[in-house]
Amino acid sequence: VKRAKESGRSEVYQPAAFTIARAQFAMETELRHAVEEKRLRLHYQPICDLASGRITKFEALARWRTQDGREISPTEFIPVAEESGLIVPLGRWAIEEAASTLAGWDRAAGGNSGVRMAVNLSAIQLQRDTVVDVIERTLTAAGLTGDRFTLELTESVMVSDPDRIADTMLALKGLGATLALDDFGTGYSNLAYLQKLPIDILKIDRSFVTGMLADRDKLAIVRAILGLAQALGMRTTAEGVETIELGQTLGALGCNYGQGYVYARPLDAAAAWSMLAERNA
Ligand code: C2E
Ligand code: MG
Ligand code: MG
Ligand code: MG
Repeated sequence: VKRAKESGRSEVYQPAAFTIARAQFAMETELRHAVEEKRLRLHYQPICDLASGRITKFEALARWRTQDGREISPTEFIPVAEESGLIVPLGRWAIEEAASTLAGWDRAAGGNSGVRMAVNLSAIQLQRDTVVDVIERTLTAAGLTGDRFTLELTESVMVSDPDRIADTMLALKGLGATLALDDFGTGYSNLAYLQKLPIDILKIDRSFVTGMLADRDKLAIVRAILGLAQALGMRTTAEGVETIELGQTLGALGCNYGQGYVYARPLDAAAAWSMLAERNA
């Protein structure tokens, strides 16, 4: 408090800061229990090939309902998990759960169901966990080959140790996995790393996609990203496709895949499987 006064900060700010810190800590404690007791769930959102309309992949997205019944968004609890280190056990659980769901779909299909699974990896996980070993062991245990998995990373992975991250990414490629750069366009403007890293897919952030038909600047950015990806030999996925017209326009512009509410919201495993069976029949 004394230091806050000396630095000229408002005194009313202090109690607010304490309240926020206490709320953060309460959430962290609750989240720790939820992770330990495996009370998180995964929902799965389809990703469609824009040319054929077929579902080629599902993205696994973490869901958390607290014991008193509140549904907390991952945009809230993932940052808390990252700050507290809980992202390591949470991330391992997500990898195992997604693999187990995919293996279940294969069993239901009587062989390779032909669909792939995308899992989000946090930069903290890449720094602190032995993610490559975890994924390799999980795939083996589930009887899946590495080509069935896509790992979604954000540009923030480049902050820490680019050389080490590049090694980790190469090791993931060595397992046969696909690497996607998530939320592309919202991170760093340094494009040099695109050349150096083995990225297969750019996921165009939904802040550019959703409103692009009514906003020339957004459309220009989307076109530029598509051009960049094509020139670098990468495929593209548009996030936030909310209308049929948007999906059609993106397909005509050469975007490979689309993900968004027009196809489906993230669904539980059973609903995702029904949708796959129906759409790809
Ligand atoms: P993300 O990886 O970019 O995932 C896409 C987000 O966009 C999801 O939000 C999805 O529900 C939402 N979305 C999809 N289509 C549309 C659309 O048409 N319109 C709109 N408005 N939104 C759409 P969600 O599930 O709330 O997840 C938010 C973020 O939390 C994810 O963004 C990802 O960064 C993070 N996250 C979720 N699960 C995990 C996880 O298991 N591990 C890690 N490290 N991060 C996760
Ligand atoms: Mg993602
Ligand atoms: Mg994304
Ligand atoms: Mg996003």
